[in-house]
Amino acid sequence: MTLQMSWVTLLWSMNAAACLTLAVVNLIVWLNARNEWGHLLFFAAAASASTIAILELLGMHAGSILEFSNLLRWAHVPYCVLIVSIVWFARIFMGAGRIWLAWTITGLRTVALLPNFLATYNLNYGQVTALKHIRLLGEDITIIEGKLNPWMSLGQLSSLLLLAYLLDASRTIWRRGEKRRALFFGGSLILFTLFAALDVVLVQMNVLQLPYMVSFAFFGIIVVMAYELSRDVIRASRLSRELRATEAGLRETQQRLSLAADAAHLGIWVRDLKKDEIWASENWRDLFGFTHTEELIFERILERMHPEDRAIFNQNFTKAISSDGHYETEYRLILPNGQMRWISSRGRVETNGGGAPKLLRGISVDITDRKRAELEVAQQRNELTHLTRVTMLGELSGSIAHELNQPLTAILCNAKAIGHLLDQERIDLGEIREALKDIVAEDKRAGEVIHRLRLLLTKGEVQFQPVDLNEIVEEVLKLVRVDLGRHGVTAQTELPPGLPKIDADRVHLQQVVLNLVLNAADAMANNPADSRALIVRTGHLKDEGLFLSVTDDGIGIAPEQLEKVFEPFYTTKSHGMGLGLSVCRTIVAAHGGKLLATNNPTRGATFRFVLPFVREVRA
Ligand code: ADP
Repeated sequence: MTLQMSWVTLLWSMNAAACLTLAVVNLIVWLNARNEWGHLLFFAAAASASTIAILELLGMHAGSILEFSNLLRWAHVPYCVLIVSIVWFARIFMGAGRIWLAWTITGLRTVALLPNFLATYNLNYGQVTALKHIRLLGEDITIIEGKLNPWMSLGQLSSLLLLAYLLDASRTIWRRGEKRRALFFGGSLILFTLFAALDVVLVQMNVLQLPYMVSFAFFGIIVVMAYELSRDVIRASRLSRELRATEAGLRETQQRLSLAADAAHLGIWVRDLKKDEIWASENWRDLFGFTHTEELIFERILERMHPEDRAIFNQNFTKAISSDGHYETEYRLILPNGQMRWISSRGRVETNGGGAPKLLRGISVDITDRKRAELEVAQQRNELTHLTRVTMLGELSGSIAHELNQPLTAILCNAKAIGHLLDQERIDLGEIREALKDIVAEDKRAGEVIHRLRLLLTKGEVQFQPVDLNEIVEEVLKLVRVDLGRHGVTAQTELPPGLPKIDADRVHLQQVVLNLVLNAADAMANNPADSRALIVRTGHLKDEGLFLSVTDDGIGIAPEQLEKVFEPFYTTKSHGMGLGLSVCRTIVAAHGGKLLATNNPTRGATFRFVLPFVREVRA
C-alpha cells in the first residue's frame, strides 16, 4: 500500500489550524484583559482567516456548481470580518490612518454582503458556467469558471481603499520616525493585501488556472499581526518586570522613611480633598490621641485643637490651598485626657493636572518640650528686663522723690494758705477756690508721676499695641528731667509731628529710651558744664518704619567696643551692671529691629534703631 500524500489538503488544513490556534490564544488573552482591543481584533481576523482557508479547501473538493458557489458566497462573511479587523487593528497599532477611510472600508465591505447574498450565485460570479478539475500538487481539485458579477467592483473598491488606507498610515508613522513599524508592519500588510487582491482578480478572470489562495495571503497578514502583538506583549512583560523592581525599591524606601519617621516621632498624614478622606500614620494617631482604628474626620481633629489656635490653623490651611501650596503652623492640642501638647505641622498641597488642589500631605511633630523651654526663656528674659528696669529706676529714685516732692510741697503750701484764709475775719472764698484748684492740679501731677512709675515698675506680660513713639520719648524725658538737670545735662528733641503709630510694647520701649538717655548723660558727666546736651530724634523712613536715635556729646566708644557694649555684663562704670544695652537690644529685636551704636563725626556716640512696620522678630 502506497501512502498518497494530499499536499493541498495538508497545506490548507495547516493554514486553518495555525490561524485557529492564534485566534484561540488571543481570545483567551482578551477575555482576561477586556480593554486590550487589539487581541479581540486579532482573534476576529485569525478566526476569519482560518474559516476562509477551510472554505477554500472545501471549494476545491466541491461536487457541484451550487456547492462551490455557496461556499464562495459564505466566504464573504469572514472576508468582511477580516478586512474590517485589519483596518482597525492597523489603526490601533500604528496610531495613524484616516478615520473616514477606515469607516468607508468598513461600510463598503458590510454593504457588499447584500448583493453577495441577493445574487443568484455570489458576489464574484453573475453566472457560473463550469466546474473544472485540475491537478495541483498531486491532488485532484475543482476550480470554477463563470461570468463576473458587476457588484464585485464593490469588493475590489474596498480592497483598493484598504491599500490606500495602509499606505497612508504607513507614510504617517514613517514621518513620525517609526520607520521599523512603517516598513515591516505597514509594508507587509500592504504586500499581502495586494497579493490577496491580485489572486482574486487573476483567478476570477481565469488568467490563473488555480484555486483561490487568498487564505495564504491572509495567513501572511495574521503572522505579521501576531508579530506586532507579541512585541507589545514582550514590552508589557519587560515593563512589568521593571515595575516590580521599582516597587521593591519603593517599598524599601518607604520602610526606611517610616523607620526614620518613627525615630523622630514624626506623624505623617495625607488628606484627600476630593474624597474628604484622611489617612495618618500610627505615630500621628498617637500624637493626636486617636486610636489606631478610629475613623479620622477633619472636624474631629479640629476639635482637638486649642480653641484659640483653630482660626490661625484654618487660615494657614486656606492660604496654602489658594497660594503657594506650602504651609507651616504651630498649634496646641488638648488631648482627651486634658493634657496639652504643642504640635508643629508643615505640609504641601498637591494639585491635579488642571492645577486644582487634590490632596494635602504633611508631617506633624511634638514640640511641647521646645515650646516649654522657649516659654521659660521668654519668662526669664522678661524678668531680667524687669529687673534692669527696676534697678534703673532705683538709680533715679532721688530725682523721682524730687519730682514727687514738688507737687506735694505745693499742695502743703496751698493747704496752709487755705488755713490762713479761714482764720481771717472776712473769708475770701475766691482765693480759697484758687488755692483748692492748685491743690487739685498738683495732686494730678503727683498722680501722673506715680502712674508712670507704677507702669514701669510692674512686671506685666509683653503687650503689643499701637503706640506713638514721640509720646514715649516725651514721657521718658519727663521722668528723667530732674535727674538730667542735676547733672547739668540738657535734653533736646527733634520729634516730627504726625508720625504713624507703631505696634510695640509701650513699657519696654520706654525702658530702651530711658536706658539710652541715661547712658548718654553718663557719657557726658566729665564734659564742661556748657556742653552736656543730648538729642533724641525720631523720624519716618518711608515704607521701612520709624527710627529713634539718641545722640550725645560724650566720650564716645572705642571702635572695637562698638559691638561689645551690647554684651551682657560689659560695663566701664564702677557702679554699672552692664546689662542695660544687652536688654535694650533684646527688646528692639523683639520688635523686629536692631539697636546699633556709632561714633559721631565730631564727638560722642549715637545709638539708633529702626522699628519696621512689618514685624519680623529676630532672636
Ligand atoms: P551699664 O550702663 O550698666 O554699664 P550698659 O549696658 O547700659 O550698662 O552699658 C554698657 C557700657 O557701654 C557702658 O558701661 C559704657 O561703657 C558703654 N556706653 C553705653 N552708652 C554709651 C555712650 N552713650 N557713650 C559711651 N559709652 C557708652
